[in-house]
Amino acid sequence: MAFDLDMIKKVYDNYGPRIAAARKVVGKPLTLTEKILYSHLWDGNATEAHERGVTYVDFAPDRVAMQDATAQMALLQFMQAGRPTVAVPSTVHCDHLIQAKIGAIEDLATANTQNKEVFDFLASVSDKYGIGFWKPGAGIIHQVVLENYAFPGGMMIGTDSHTPNAGGLGMIAIGVGGADACDVMAGLAWELKFPKLIGVKLTGKLSGWTSAKDVILKVAGILTVKGGTGAIVEYFGEGARSLSATGKGTICNMGAEIGATTSVFGYDEKIATYLKGTEREEIAKLADQVKEHLTGDEEVYSNPDKYFDQVIEIDLSTLEPHVNGPFTPDMAWPISKFAAAVKENGWPQTLEVGLIGSCTNSSYEDISRAASVAEQAVNKKLVAKAEFTITPGSELVRYTVERDGYLDTFEKMGGVVLANACGPCIGQWARHSDDPTRKNSILTSFNRNFKSRNDGNPNTHAFVASPEIVTAMTIAGDLSFNPLTDTLINSDGVQVRLEEPQGLEMPIKGYEVEDAGFQAPAKDGTKVNVIVDPNSSRLQLLDPFKAWEGTDIKGLKLLIKAKGKCTTDHISMAGPWLKFRGHLDNISNNMLIGATNFFNDKADTVKNQLNGEYGAVPATARAYKAQGIGSIVVGDENYGEGSSREHAAMEPRHLGVRAILVKSFARIHETNLKKQGMLGLTFADNNDYDKIREDDTIDITGLNDFTPGKPLSIVLHHIDGTSDTFNVNHTYNQQQIEWFKAGGALNIIRMNQNG
Ligand code: SF4
Repeated sequence: MAFDLDMIKKVYDNYGPRIAAARKVVGKPLTLTEKILYSHLWDGNATEAHERGVTYVDFAPDRVAMQDATAQMALLQFMQAGRPTVAVPSTVHCDHLIQAKIGAIEDLATANTQNKEVFDFLASVSDKYGIGFWKPGAGIIHQVVLENYAFPGGMMIGTDSHTPNAGGLGMIAIGVGGADACDVMAGLAWELKFPKLIGVKLTGKLSGWTSAKDVILKVAGILTVKGGTGAIVEYFGEGARSLSATGKGTICNMGAEIGATTSVFGYDEKIATYLKGTEREEIAKLADQVKEHLTGDEEVYSNPDKYFDQVIEIDLSTLEPHVNGPFTPDMAWPISKFAAAVKENGWPQTLEVGLIGSCTNSSYEDISRAASVAEQAVNKKLVAKAEFTITPGSELVRYTVERDGYLDTFEKMGGVVLANACGPCIGQWARHSDDPTRKNSILTSFNRNFKSRNDGNPNTHAFVASPEIVTAMTIAGDLSFNPLTDTLINSDGVQVRLEEPQGLEMPIKGYEVEDAGFQAPAKDGTKVNVIVDPNSSRLQLLDPFKAWEGTDIKGLKLLIKAKGKCTTDHISMAGPWLKFRGHLDNISNNMLIGATNFFNDKADTVKNQLNGEYGAVPATARAYKAQGIGSIVVGDENYGEGSSREHAAMEPRHLGVRAILVKSFARIHETNLKKQGMLGLTFADNNDYDKIREDDTIDITGLNDFTPGKPLSIVLHHIDGTSDTFNVNHTYNQQQIEWFKAGGALNIIRMNQNG
């Protein structure tokens, strides 16, 4: 049994008292989202109502899931905590590092060779610390989580933006950075700004060509890519209850495309059926006992405008299939208007490739509906005009749909079955194209369609639709084809029509698999060695950062005074650097190379005060470090905004930067700096930014009395012998000051472990 029934029991036991406490402080009926959030407070029962979109709250998630690319640094850091096992049930999924090129078997073999050192590391570190390991080929993280771990009313964090997929089973599941995953596995609280709430009321029932995918394509069109920011989207109503659990998963998955923190459905019959069908009947039984807590209060759903910050209503009975794109998932076109849009905008009308599957749409229902369209093509002598690929979301689904003949049908239509992995969804697609400079169109059932995402080619116009619509359009090879109204000419020259797709929510013979690809961790991990090749360029074990020396920090050299925007991408660039994400020293060679130097307006060109020469930021920091000299980075407003990647805080720490002094911080980055034992400081008077000169040597004083709310001081020693002194603020609480003193949060956990 992969899931942890005892943990789920504990969560459900807490529900009654915790929701009662929440009712008292909130003083009005509760949404499902509030019930789950208040039941997962780090401190237990609610003592105050939290202001939506304002208050930061500590939570205690039940689970952690990590994909192979982001798991590397999360687990390297976790090893620093000195714990024998993870604090909450956790899993690793090898899916992102598998390139799609030829087909499932060949591509998997290549990935296993190319990424051997990463997979060996992840397998061994999982084995040692009690983490479930899903091997390459087992499937895509979100599908595997839905099939094995998601449960109604639970809370999970995952190191991937489509973690919200688990909302389809009624879980609050949120995508985070590796640092957050590391904290929760190490036993720390997890902080989230209490979200705003968007309610989506679904009425009616889907029929014909319309599917769950079209619900989220429609919602994306209404809310746009930013409309869900800082909010949790809660779906309810008779229409919600009529959707299959996996259909709900698709909707929640793509909630990431509207920037939502996550999306969630209440527990219902469909979810219970899916749990039973995936060998989790015990969970359904437990959920039945607390089902009043696993949905929003009746009064909320009767008067949603009173309880949600925003309400949207969609009638499933009249909803049309949609095609969204190109280049953005919120450009929503009902299929009846799409052909005209293609012509008006001059988008390439010929469809070159149709791709179905991915974590978003590879349920049994999706595959069976798409296969019913493919079967018609075969039976009606239609020859598919575009290339066609199928990416199963998991080995469980792949094995079952192969058993039931669907893969065979796709292959007869000319389809190529790819590995159970991310592949073409994340640019891991070696697409065969005769001319990459030609504008071209592809249509996928994935979630993201930003420029260059799928095949790395900016000329590719990527559109998104349901698997059945993708399959139909692939047969036509033409984006102006509307399967609801149009006909096609078959190889006999006869006009034929594609009938409405038919599918099954669950396999009649049940799911089946020979080897799901799961490796359970060792019962006693103490004797397991974590495998890291000392010569690896991709992985490097971490050494604990040094504790504070116990004195004021003096004689720091100014490394860079950054001007203007300095996001985590400027601090730790992505792209080609991502292959080093498990090797702190190598990836540190990208530190701040995107930031603009205030003194010369150039990127990656700063003065080395030791020899007066200009050089790259990382090399200059290394030169100071080699001499045992610390350095300081000065920045502008909202320093560290953007993705929460922990490397942006770890790299400066590794290269000897002691403090980041800025006009203001993006909060997540500020917290990440604190966790790494760095000083994150802000100017008390922003005009002091102007006092900082290129040749300054800098002291930070007041550290012996480092106290919450009490400013520290900065002394600038200018090269002309003059100096300036001014106050700087900080937001460290007592615990965070302890992190600073110990040299990082994980050092404290390790010290506590060692008694
Ligand atoms: S299939 Fe695509 S969206 Fe899903 S986890 Fe993989 S890369 Fe992300």
